[in-house]
Amino acid sequence: MKIAIASDHGGFDLKECLKAAFAAEWTDFGCDGPGSCDYPDYAVAVAEAVALGEVELGVLVCTNGMGMSVAANRFHNVRAALCRTAADAKQARAHVGANVLCLGAVNQPKEVAQEILETFVGTALSDEERHARRRAKVERARRLSDFSGLAKDDPEIYTAIKAQVLQEDTEINLIASENTSSRAVRLAAGSVLMNKYAEGYPGKRWYSGCLPVDAAEELARRRACELFGADHANVQPHCGSSANMAVYFATINPGDTILSLSLDQGGHLSHGSPVNFSGKLYNIVPYTVSRETERIDYDALERQALEVKPKILLSGASAYPRALDFRRIREICDKAGCIMMVDMAHIAGLVAGGAHESPVPYADFVTSTTHKTLRGPRGGLILCKEKWAKAIDKAVFPGMQGGPLENIIAAKAVCFREWMQPEMKDYAAQVVKNCKAMCKAVQDRGFRIVSGGTDNHLFLVDVKASGLTGKEAAAALDNAGIVVNKNTIPYDTESPFVTSGIRVGTASITTRGMKEEEAALIGTWIADILADISNTALQAEVKAKAKALTARFPVP
Ligand SMILES: *Cc1c(COP(=O)(O)O)cnc(C)c1O
Repeated sequence: MKIAIASDHGGFDLKECLKAAFAAEWTDFGCDGPGSCDYPDYAVAVAEAVALGEVELGVLVCTNGMGMSVAANRFHNVRAALCRTAADAKQARAHVGANVLCLGAVNQPKEVAQEILETFVGTALSDEERHARRRAKVERARRLSDFSGLAKDDPEIYTAIKAQVLQEDTEINLIASENTSSRAVRLAAGSVLMNKYAEGYPGKRWYSGCLPVDAAEELARRRACELFGADHANVQPHCGSSANMAVYFATINPGDTILSLSLDQGGHLSHGSPVNFSGKLYNIVPYTVSRETERIDYDALERQALEVKPKILLSGASAYPRALDFRRIREICDKAGCIMMVDMAHIAGLVAGGAHESPVPYADFVTSTTHKTLRGPRGGLILCKEKWAKAIDKAVFPGMQGGPLENIIAAKAVCFREWMQPEMKDYAAQVVKNCKAMCKAVQDRGFRIVSGGTDNHLFLVDVKASGLTGKEAAAALDNAGIVVNKNTIPYDTESPFVTSGIRVGTASITTRGMKEEEAALIGTWIADILADISNTALQAEVKAKAKALTARFPVP
């Protein structure tokens, strides 16, 4: 077994004695003699080796073992336990799952110390439910401990962050554009990489000292290309809207025509809304879904493209519950002689996990956010064919951005790596299964679903058909601990502030491990609330049930 060991001057003799008495593959981090030294230097070395997985266990010895255990426990994934007896060691391993043994040398007979070590190494983790449950609660405490330093430095912001933690813990989040990022993503996003100015691209920066951020950005670019099978990736856009802006700037001139899905039918602000830069700078021609099917009619789109002759045909949406046919869209772009641009912001995770066809083989440009189904940090991403690589990089920097957010880029890299793990395919498939199950539960209770169902992570309920507005439906559900957003539906007759629909998405509940059973149950709660919209007692009842359900499915 690989074990890291270290001591300060007070523990030096005992450390040497343990190494001699117990056969293991020891890595000795010092100290090397009885001269006075500082215990944290040695605790940190062993704790890091354990955290990195370079060794299975660690052993730290000082005069009484206390300073060592406090210092080692500063590290994530280190559980250091101070043991005075073999019985302590047994419990530390079996119950607590300790992976670093701390020993006090003073008044500790060497034979007892040896016995403690043998017991520690020889005891397996208990899988008894109560111990597993308690260990899980220790891990859960990291949701608070990760930012607990703020409690002293900025109590008001600490309070705001803690409120978000509690909200995530207890609410059923069905906002289709949100998800719950992993701890690894959040750690990278909050890292010191944010301190670096890095205008330019890896290897070609304007400032010195960019080697660490170059490594992170290079990984992000390479992983993005590998994950999506793209020729080129630009990982610098601060958000999805700026990713879209960069493609427009790289390819067309102000006044040129973009054919895109109309905002009130599921498109996005940055696809040409008159209040957005896109609508102000370009000649936007909107396309719509079919009145009958509420789906994109590709034949109609083809006719419109041939007539309008856009420079860019932009597909992708914020509220379109159906699969997109990228092969057919490519055909239309070829016939109309325009650039094929796909904004996969919403479905990027489904694409990464194989639950939606990828636009990458077909499109000249694919833009995305990294925080929706893709479950990374908030940010943007552009993928393109090699021939556009130079133009797009120039459009992002120096075209529209200054220094990139290298901490966020590192977090994007972490996210892309997560998607390369095989279980993420199951996640993507489960998001869709959950969505179908929830949608069916609502539909079975007589509510009208836009387009009759869903192929992806979201569905739209036409609440107006049941005599409600989107605004009041969303507010009632919010009271019940179920968070959705009001949303326009195709050919909506209500204003965007009122709307006739709600948009419901399953990315976040799937991240916390819910399956079809829970999704369908939530669907029945949604139907219960909407069917009796002013019943506040019912809302309180569902809120309690939602809280009990979420407690069983902790967010990461
Ligand atoms: C969310 C979204 C965006 C933009 O996202 P921001 O990061 O908020 O700018 C762009 N396009 C589509 C289709 C979206 O759904």
